Amino acid sequence: MSTPNTSPTTVETDRTRRDGWAGANGSRPAVLELHDVTKTYGSDPPVAALRGVSLTVAQGELVAIVGPSGSGKTTLLHIIGTLDQPSSGTVRIDGVDVAGLDDRQLAALRARSIGFVFQQFFLAEHQTVLDNVADGLLYGGAPVGERRELAAGALTAVGLADRQHARPTHMSGGQRQRIAIARALVGMPAIVLADEPTGNLDSVTGAQILALLKQLNEQGATIIVITHDRGIADQLPRQVQMRDGQIVSDTASNQQPAVVANSVGGNATEARR
Ligand code: ADP
Ligand code: MG
Repeated sequence: MSTPNTSPTTVETDRTRRDGWAGANGSRPAVLELHDVTKTYGSDPPVAALRGVSLTVAQGELVAIVGPSGSGKTTLLHIIGTLDQPSSGTVRIDGVDVAGLDDRQLAALRARSIGFVFQQFFLAEHQTVLDNVADGLLYGGAPVGERRELAAGALTAVGLADRQHARPTHMSGGQRQRIAIARALVGMPAIVLADEPTGNLDSVTGAQILALLKQLNEQGATIIVITHDRGIADQLPRQVQMRDGQIVSDTASNQQPAVVANSVGGNATEARR
């Protein structure tokens, strides 16, 4: 398991990040592997939110998971983010099968390997921008000076180098989302999970955030964007389309769709073998 470079002399965070993210350039290991994942809620009656989802995302990809309301996106996000467990199937994050981990180990894996970006930003309003981002490194136990140094680098990467000492309160939605993205990226996680990252932004600002995500991906970050918006998904290099708890298409050249859009209800597991 690679750990972030936390050397206090590491100020060239862009280069550090590239090295950390793209070190295995060429071999492209899988950072996410879902195998035949199902999720059923409740029992009276049971709701099958995911019905046999298999998905592999390699290091360095930028993937949109797109589907209408109720198709299972949030459920899938929770399972990829290790915030919830599947009813059946396998989830591997950065090579680790999460089924074998206890709560403490899961929390450690999550802190180390997954960066979250949410529609609602979730910033600490009373803290400086710099400390909001530095908090993304709290789990690693690095001293505050080191966390702030890395946070400053991440803020530069999202175009907010000059706002480090401001507080989020009076900043625009686009700036707030940039802070959240810097916080997600600062620990060089294996996967950045962005849940409707432009959902609270006007279209111009949303386009800028999407452009930023693409730029960070070009620098090596692996990013999964979850969206209901076809227009957003279409701008990303790979689109995984969900409907009724299944993947109905995947533009990745190495993966055939599990089922075709018009034949939902077929045996997805069988179709994938
Ligand atoms: P999306 O994010 O694409 O709108 P969700 O994952 O939220 O889809 O929901 C998928 C299906 O699972 C829907 O039918 C939804 O009603 C159901 N569902 C989601 N969460 C729960 C829950 N906690 N309990 C019961 N049913 C749920
Ligand atoms: Mg949802």
